[in-house]
Amino acid sequence: MPRVNPPDVDRVAASRAAVAARRARAKVKDAVAQRRRSALDVLATGWVSSSSAEARLRVRELLSSVPGIGPVRSSKILAELGISDSKRVGGLGRRQREAIRAWLERRERHIPPIHALRADHSRLVVLAGPTAVGKGAVSRYIREHYPDVLLSVSATTRAPRPGEVDGVDYRFVSDAEFDRLIASDAMLESAVVHNAYRYGTPRAPIEAALAEGKSVLLEIDLQGARSVRAAMPGATLVFLLPPSWEELVRRLIGRGTEDSAEQSRRLETAKIELGAQNEFDYRVVNDDVSRAAQEVVDLMSIPDEHKEHNHG
Ligand code: 5GP
Repeated sequence: MPRVNPPDVDRVAASRAAVAARRARAKVKDAVAQRRRSALDVLATGWVSSSSAEARLRVRELLSSVPGIGPVRSSKILAELGISDSKRVGGLGRRQREAIRAWLERRERHIPPIHALRADHSRLVVLAGPTAVGKGAVSRYIREHYPDVLLSVSATTRAPRPGEVDGVDYRFVSDAEFDRLIASDAMLESAVVHNAYRYGTPRAPIEAALAEGKSVLLEIDLQGARSVRAAMPGATLVFLLPPSWEELVRRLIGRGTEDSAEQSRRLETAKIELGAQNEFDYRVVNDDVSRAAQEVVDLMSIPDEHKEHNHG
């Protein structure tokens, strides 16, 4: 038996205590992520007991655990409130405590609690919104982080952009093939988008996924959203908004995938689409992709254990 020196014993005990403390903090974050506890409740506990797990939790991590906030926004919020990224709940000064409490209370008043939304949750969610608002980025985020959600792969007659993969981003088909798909009733909906190419949603994968109890996300245009509403009245329609018109123009020009004639055509369509946002069940502002994606996923009835939360 090797002799264990007292300093080693101390080190072992200290590292065990550190692991236990980390676990306790992770539990607090999970409870917030799963909406079993509010961030305000965690703050209140941390402020009355300076030795609690709540007090030792970094404020940034607490905010990141709140559904719909995420790590990027959490850092921005802290910067706005004048709280450093490394601050722990128990280490906040009086003014900082007031600032963060007021911020969270304001947010709670504006965001309906999840049980209020749950009644009109549907497993089929349609995500629409103007050109370049980031529907693709939000869907990609959902594809990567929520593998249980089926992302419908549309058929289109437009050519692939660099990097796009047939069968993943779209099924790239000829006009004749598109005609054949429509004639055989294989499309749930289809439309000519931006007065240019045809796009459509294949019916079979969606029906199969819904029959299996899976959630489905369709990323389509306004006409498509209206057709799906008519065909499946239980679908939830979500409209993705840019933070501002100027930001939308900047994103479209910035991505540089369309020539200027196509850009003007898309901006014309975008104006019409923005005018229709009130037809949708929910509007989500795409100020931060992971946050917006989380908001969209929260509108689906996925059992909580299949959801991933950002812990920062
Ligand atoms: P993009 O060419 O930029 O990939 O897409 C152009 C537009 O077509 C986007 O607004 C996108 O939402 C829409 N779109 C993509 N797939 C479908 C679809 O299956 N049906 C309909 N109606 N629109 C689609």
